[in-house]
Amino acid sequence: MDKTLHIVGGGMAGSEAAWQAANMGVDVVIHEMRPKVGTFAHQTGNLAEMVCSNSFRSDDDEQNAVGLLHWEMRAANGLIMGAADRHRLPAGGALAVDRDPFSEHVTEVLRAHPRIRVEEGEVSALPDDGHWIFATGPLTSTALGQAIQAETGAERLAFFDAIAPIVYAESIDMDVVWAQSRYDKGETEAEQKAYLNCPMTKDQYEAFIDALLAAEKTEFHEGETAGYFDGCLPIEVMAERGRETLRHGPMKPVGLTNAHKPDEKPYAVVQLRRDNALGTLFNIVGFQTKMKYGAQTEVFRMIPGLENASFARLGGIHRNTFLNSPTLLDDRMRLRSRPHVRFAGQVTGVEGYVESAAMGLVAGRFAAAEILGQPLAPVPQDTAMGALIHHITGGAEAKTFQPMNVNFGLFRPLEDVRGGRRGRKDRYKGYTDRAKEAWQGWLAGQDTAALA
Ligand SMILES: Cc1cc2nc3c(=O)[nH]c(=O)nc-3n(C[C@H](O)[C@H](O)[C@H](O)COP(=O)(O)OP(=O)(O)OC[C@H]3O[C@@H](n4cnc5c(N)ncnc54)[C@H](O)[C@@H]3O)c2cc1C
Repeated sequence: MDKTLHIVGGGMAGSEAAWQAANMGVDVVIHEMRPKVGTFAHQTGNLAEMVCSNSFRSDDDEQNAVGLLHWEMRAANGLIMGAADRHRLPAGGALAVDRDPFSEHVTEVLRAHPRIRVEEGEVSALPDDGHWIFATGPLTSTALGQAIQAETGAERLAFFDAIAPIVYAESIDMDVVWAQSRYDKGETEAEQKAYLNCPMTKDQYEAFIDALLAAEKTEFHEGETAGYFDGCLPIEVMAERGRETLRHGPMKPVGLTNAHKPDEKPYAVVQLRRDNALGTLFNIVGFQTKMKYGAQTEVFRMIPGLENASFARLGGIHRNTFLNSPTLLDDRMRLRSRPHVRFAGQVTGVEGYVESAAMGLVAGRFAAAEILGQPLAPVPQDTAMGALIHHITGGAEAKTFQPMNVNFGLFRPLEDVRGGRRGRKDRYKGYTDRAKEAWQGWLAGQDTAALA
């Protein structure tokens, strides 16, 4: 069989995957549709174009999960991190990047690599054989999206996300909130207590609606709404349709009894549902929103029980093509139904430049190792990379799967560390120390295999 690795999409993930695989000794062809076929967000024909903000977020590798991901990519000689460091702009503790020189640098390095060829043109079908990585991003071309849906079933490839905010379990006030499913539905006790409920009085509900209506909102980008339908309205739009709409929708108080105050009937209830198998994250059910991030934290902390909530991620609605990865991909990012096809980047259900490049890095290494006949061990779950892969390929709830950025809520809890806000600094340092050791171990295992 031909040992060339074909990578479709030369964005953050495809560029990193090509670099990693080529450096392991595999010939790579990058198939990039731009500039022949454009998207509403990309402006150039460069590889690794940053389509919006120029930030790689926090660069703190001891106290921040995205900073840890930077560290792991640097330790693996990542091209995207190397280019970002080279074209860094002053931004305090964040890593901001001079976008045009950054993507020009990535393009030049990849085009100059003796093992890499860039072919312009759209790929619109899933291949029957060969070695492939699809890294076509949130704006995967329409024809390819249709081909993927034909393989996976239409309901397993989404074209818009609808992200409800996600709260760290430890920051929820359990003296106010109680666990109960509506009408105690479910066979097991776990099912009957699957939701956490935040009760509101009439005054609290009215104040909450006022705050929702007054909050600053973000707009869709031009061209972003093509194909958008009304199936998943932002909560503030529901509130605009009538002050009682939410009380008859996601905030309806029926079928629930406040365990702390059984005689008091709540006027409205906000429900939270477990978001991962570890039970460290909860999403606010039905609360997808286009409120600006600053406004979201203010408004959501008005909810009784969430006054001190820490958010693993805030809500949003975007044009975003992504797979139901928990059901479709294995832990080496292979499509279960066609294992010679891998996916990487944002289309796998991670979110952001850094997370997308990270998934490209591991997909490139997995694919190259397989071609070279030296298959790799799965990425350790205690690394930032491994926590993300584990989440998207199995740890997340498949039924409600939405894109995720890296955060410490995805990490296995540490033993012997203090919980709550007070223990946070030590806990995060514990996570990052543990991750670095595990990541170095995984990389060292490959060096040994390559030398054998
Ligand atoms: C409007 C918008 C704003 C965003 N803002 C931000 C932000 O501020 N910060 C952030 O971190 N993330 C942002 N994102 C998400 C960001 O796009 C991703 O995090 C990141 O670019 C994903 O990397 P990727 O490699 O998966 O996809 P991309 O970087 O998009 O790369 C995919 C590549 O595949 C190509 N392609 C698509 N279909 C085909 C095909 N059939 N054949 C060949 N080539 C194809 C595309 O041209 C593209 O070059 C935004 C996304 C959008 C749509």
